[in-house]
Amino acid sequence: MHLPLRRAPFPASMAVEADPASFATPRLVALNELLAETLGFSAEWLKSREGVSLLSGQARIDGVPAVAQAYAGHQFGQFVPQLGDGRAHLLGIVTDDQGQVRDMQLKGSGPTPFSRRGDGLAALGPVLREYLVSEAMAALGVPTTRALAAVTTGETIWRDKPQPGAILTRIASSHLRVGTFQYFAARENREALAFLCDLAIDRHDPAAREAENPVRALYETVVARQARLVADWMSVGFVHGVMNTDNMALSGETIDYGPCAFLDVYRHDKVFSSIDRNGRYAYGNQPRLAGWNLARLAETLLPFFDPDEERALAWAQDALGRFQSLYEHAWLARMRSKLGLTIEGIQDKALIDALLQLMENEALDWTLTFRRLTRNEPLTDGPASEALERWRTDWEARRASEPASRKEQDAQMQQNNPAVIARNHRVAEAIAAAETGDFSVFEALLQRLRHPFESDDAYEQPPSPEQIVHATFCG
Ligand code: AMP
Ligand code: MG
Ligand code: MG
Repeated sequence: MHLPLRRAPFPASMAVEADPASFATPRLVALNELLAETLGFSAEWLKSREGVSLLSGQARIDGVPAVAQAYAGHQFGQFVPQLGDGRAHLLGIVTDDQGQVRDMQLKGSGPTPFSRRGDGLAALGPVLREYLVSEAMAALGVPTTRALAAVTTGETIWRDKPQPGAILTRIASSHLRVGTFQYFAARENREALAFLCDLAIDRHDPAAREAENPVRALYETVVARQARLVADWMSVGFVHGVMNTDNMALSGETIDYGPCAFLDVYRHDKVFSSIDRNGRYAYGNQPRLAGWNLARLAETLLPFFDPDEERALAWAQDALGRFQSLYEHAWLARMRSKLGLTIEGIQDKALIDALLQLMENEALDWTLTFRRLTRNEPLTDGPASEALERWRTDWEARRASEPASRKEQDAQMQQNNPAVIARNHRVAEAIAAAETGDFSVFEALLQRLRHPFESDDAYEQPPSPEQIVHATFCG
């Protein structure tokens, strides 16, 4: 079998060769056949013994060494000069059927020179969570890394309790993180930073090459992509959970799904992650923290913005200053779509804010509320409060002022308000079954998540009180 994999183009200072660990009994438990085909892999071959050997890091391919990438990062605001792939191996790059170069990476494949005290391994639960949530995000149209496969290693790993070990094969437009740039900026390695900028431009922004200053153009598109990405997250009620600078990709894809979650009941300050004690990465803080991370990226690129330090700083502040308005604009556009509004009205923000405030006051489910509006159903099971009734009247009046027909508005809401998201209790249920060897719950959920805008009574339901997932954990 000819493998479409090629060597990633990194010099030794950026990515060290590292062999994945040996696992005696790797077993394929999930394969994204459609994605495989777009990458030039035969799904049949990936299911074969040789294929599973590749997906579990057991195959060695001549001339294509696996590598662990170096990066640094601000973790909860604290700068750590060396993090790096401590439990991931970049197998190589592939060109997909759209002509886009994509990274193929194993996560949970054993220790690397960057493992510090970690074991280099991943537990089945977090692997399946990333698989489900990243595929759900892709189906929702949110930029994200993708899950190609999951294998169990046959080994038991130790977390708070013994768990099955597993490896995720992740496909990403790149693994260039804000932290990758920080690693080299902290070492004052201008040459490496220039190389990274070139690579990022090649991969993500070829048009920037034509700009008078390509690095400025790159930075501007990175800012714009993050504004759109976070607006997407907010509109589907997604909480990333660990927006450290090492978990923000220049590609604008959602990356590194850890203790992430979707909102059930809407709360602006909602936190799920057990390690986020101060709520730094709460739902409502995500736009601000994305801006904070982008400032850290700008700091690494100042000399490229302008040889004059003051002018560089002034330019960066200006470029970063646009993030907030780009975000607001993207967010308003998404929220308007969710409410069936097709033109911009000056009262729209007030109308949306009023709805959010009511949802918070009355503890309404994020996804179900917009779905009920879409279906023109009552928002509460009991009688609606006066405030909700009033809001609905205002909304109806606003809809009546639309040039779009009622039918067009409804269609727009249908396309922007998912019925089925990766609800935390459903994900937890799929993982619990898989841990006992039953992958049918995972499979059924995954298939359902591929069609988020189709109604499904069973999968749409918010958790019952005893099903609510209050905290999520890293793995
Ligand atoms: P994360 O919080 O998953 O984004 O990871 C932060 C850093 O910790 C990265 O450098 C990871 O490679 C590293 N890391 C996380 N888990 C492990 C593990 N089990 N073994 C080794 N390194 C790890
Ligand atoms: Mg990470
Ligand atoms: Mg990680």
